Amino acid sequence: MIKLENIHKYYDSQHVLKGINLTVNRGEVVSILGPSGSGKSTLLRCINFLEQPTSGIVEVSDKRVNVESASKTDIFSLRTSTGMVFQQYNLFKNLTVLQNVIIGLTSVKQMNKDEAKKISIDILERVGLNNRLSHYPAQLSGGQQQRVGIARALALNPEVLLFDEPTSSLDPELVDEVLTTIKGVANEGNTMLIVTHELNFAREISDRVIFMEDGTIIEEGTAEQIFNNPSVERTKKFLSKVI
Ligand code: ADP
Ligand code: MG
Repeated sequence: MIKLENIHKYYDSQHVLKGINLTVNRGEVVSILGPSGSGKSTLLRCINFLEQPTSGIVEVSDKRVNVESASKTDIFSLRTSTGMVFQQYNLFKNLTVLQNVIIGLTSVKQMNKDEAKKISIDILERVGLNNRLSHYPAQLSGGQQQRVGIARALALNPEVLLFDEPTSSLDPELVDEVLTTIKGVANEGNTMLIVTHELNFAREISDRVIFMEDGTIIEEGTAEQIFNNPSVERTKKFLSKVI
């Protein structure tokens, strides 16, 4: 469902992704772990061209794009087949919960307002926010705001969901409700790539875990392998520090 081939990314002269190869199969849940600054966010953002990769090939669903010759149509296709959930929610503050979800459907998918409203209400119900439709983001807890962020991504019915530290901005007591929501989404068979520091969550939810350092994938395996028996010293150290 996702295939990255030899992806490199430079920010000016800084080499941030150094030849990433990664495959995520349909329905698979893959977590990305690694220290701050190792390039995890950049990697997610290169998949949907929120950042333009410098070289390599990005494939999502059946769309294969050589990043150096990507057309607007290619980029639009990658964007519409991926949904992203951000650390900072990125909600429109002047729109209600319902409008925040509807707007993705009417603007990106050009859906008519009535249909968009119906779908949005359904999805907001799935994330437990059907009693908050007319609230504004400022009237919600961080956990509720992030669940709106998840609903907005789900509404577009993307082939792939990308989560960039979805609980890192939350007060500790609000983390669980969001992790539970994400587990629910995973159990529906979605293909997901999740950057997280929640190790227990990663262990529970992931089919596969990837460990990144300094722009490269240094270890990859099942959750069992990585958590119980990491083979790379750096991974061992990271896991022992965080746990
Ligand atoms: P992580 O998500 O693992 O913490 P990032 O992908 O955010 O890592 O960052 C990797 C490196 O790229 C860091 O050194 C960071 O400072 C740099 N970086 C990230 N985004 C930008 C940007 N938009 N412009 C310039 N440098 C960036
Ligand atoms: Mg990051």
